[in-house]
Amino acid sequence: MSQTLKTEAIVLRKMRYGEADSILHLYTREFGRVGAIAKGVRRSKSRFGGRLEPFFRLDLVLHEGRGELMTIASASTVDPYSDLRTRADSLDAASKLGDFVLRLLDEREQNLPAYNLVANMLALLNTDPRASQRETGLAFRAKMLLASGFSPELDACVHCGATEDLVAFSPASGGIVCRDCRESGDFDFGAASHAFYSGAIKAPLAQAPDADPDSQRQVDKAITETLAHHANVRIRSLA
Ligand SMILES: [Zn+2]
Repeated sequence: MSQTLKTEAIVLRKMRYGEADSILHLYTREFGRVGAIAKGVRRSKSRFGGRLEPFFRLDLVLHEGRGELMTIASASTVDPYSDLRTRADSLDAASKLGDFVLRLLDEREQNLPAYNLVANMLALLNTDPRASQRETGLAFRAKMLLASGFSPELDACVHCGATEDLVAFSPASGGIVCRDCRESGDFDFGAASHAFYSGAIKAPLAQAPDADPDSQRQVDKAITETLAHHANVRIRSLA
């Protein structure tokens, strides 16, 4: 039995399949991660036009059959985010976003906060050339960790609860540690990194705080190592 589903979705990746088909990796508002086949999409007179491309936001009708992949029955554009493709930095940031989301969210399971974050970040990359800077990318990742339940502990030392002299990040424990509790394998995580991370989570993406290069590296490392240790997810560093 085949079932028809409707959802809004963002195209994260497109791969050629066979002579004229493509397989799309989608993040959907209703069902989370979905793989779908677009039949005949690479023919010049495809009914899909040019809209089944990475970083398009679409309204889709999908058929779900017995296989792993759904089939795209129809697609209409919600937002093509066309302007981000006109700037190399913005397109590069969108590609990194796509790669990150594909690795982090691999379940067919609705996560509305995550969906909205992805859509907001693409909209920002589309309208604001400054959104391709690393601070905004790190703020997006920090918010995505929160939305997916992998946020590190930053309020107090994960070992003793101390709230002062917090100097390092423990990947194994998933949070910050004080000077006394620091162990080998922990890395420097200074007050500026802490302030950036906390500020980035609270502020809208468009108002991500500034961070010096050292703090950017420390926050980047905290995010990649937290995911490696606690989500079993390997993501590429933004640094
Ligand atoms: Zn401690």
